[in-house]
Amino acid sequence: MAHEQDEVVVVLVQCSSCGGTGVYHGLFEPEGVGVRCIDCNHSGGREIRYYPYTGQRKIRDDIAIVRESAGKYVLGTVGPTGPEVTYEDFLKEVPEVTVTS
Ligand SMILES: [Zn+2]
Repeated sequence: MAHEQDEVVVVLVQCSSCGGTGVYHGLFEPEGVGVRCIDCNHSGGREIRYYPYTGQRKIRDDIAIVRESAGKYVLGTVGPTGPEVTYEDFLKEVPEVTVTS
């Protein structure tokens, strides 16, 4: 849901599947045998694309009410739950986004 004016950032990162080695060893690989990592085409590196956070953006005009989310898993309860607030009131309660280490 990026806006036209958002600028995508493309960076190369170490492949998290193989730890940058290009060789994957998981549950199904016998001891002493690795396989070429399919997530990074055994290069050890991957491209990721993201949009930097520059503050909370406004949602489209047809959203007037905001409620709590019951969850994101289809097998459990989904959809809105709990009390509702207007979108205008929602915008007044934006939490600070911080970097954790
Ligand atoms: Zn990899």
